[in-house]
Amino acid sequence: QPVIVAIDGPSGTGKSSTSKAVAAQLGLSYLDTGAQYRAITWWMVNNGIDIEDPTAVAAVAGKPDIVSGTDPQGPTITVDGVDVAVPIREQDVTSKVSAVSAVPEVRARITELQRTIASSADGGIVVEGRDIGTTVLPDADLKIFLTASPEARAARRSGELKGADLHTTREALIKRDAADAGRKTSPLAKAGDAVEVDTTDLTLQQVIECVVTLVEE
Ligand code: C5P
Repeated sequence: QPVIVAIDGPSGTGKSSTSKAVAAQLGLSYLDTGAQYRAITWWMVNNGIDIEDPTAVAAVAGKPDIVSGTDPQGPTITVDGVDVAVPIREQDVTSKVSAVSAVPEVRARITELQRTIASSADGGIVVEGRDIGTTVLPDADLKIFLTASPEARAARRSGELKGADLHTTREALIKRDAADAGRKTSPLAKAGDAVEVDTTDLTLQQVIECVVTLVEE
C-alpha cells in the first residue's frame, strides 16, 4: 500500500529539506508544490500577464505545461519543456507567487496535477505545500504541519539567500505568509488531524528523525 505523507507549513520552517530527506530515507517520491506555483508565476511574468488582474491570470491558467520530476535526490521542474529550477527562486517570482496562487483557476489546475502525480507514485510520496493536508490530499496517511518562530524562519531564509538583509527577509516572509493564510481558496492552514511540529529549537536532523518516526509508527 503506497504511503502518502502531506507536509504543510509557512516558509522557512524547513519543509523542503525535511520532505526531501524523509522521502529519500524511506524510498518515496517527492513533490514540491511550491515549485509548481512558482513555475506558473514565472510563465505569467514571462508572457506579460498582469498578475494584479485575477481575470487575466485565470484566463491563461491552463496554458503552461508544468512537469515535475519527483526523485527526492534531484527533483526537477519544467515549463513547456524549459528547465526553470533556477529562475523560479528569483526575488521577482517570489514576490509575485502569492497573488498568482490566490486565483481559484490556478489552484484548480495545479491541484489536479498534484493529485495525478500523487496517485501515480507507485511506492508512495511525500508532498509538501500549504494546503496538501486540508485540500489536495485530505486522505493522506500522515499529515505534518511544521511551524517555527518568525525569527528562526527569517534567519533560515536569509541564510539560503546568502547575505540578504535579515529585516527585509523577515518582512517579506511575514507578508507572503499573511497573503497565503488570508486567501479565500484553500489557504495555508493546519488540517484538524495534522501533527504539529515546532522546529524553532530543533536541528534539521532532529526534524527529519521525528517525521520518519511518525511515518513508521
Ligand atoms: O514553498 P514555497 O515558498 O516555494 O511556495 C511558494 C508559494 O507558492 C507560497 O508562498 C504560496 O503562495 C504558494 N503555494 C500555495 N500552495 C501550495 C504551495 C505553495 O499556494 N500548496
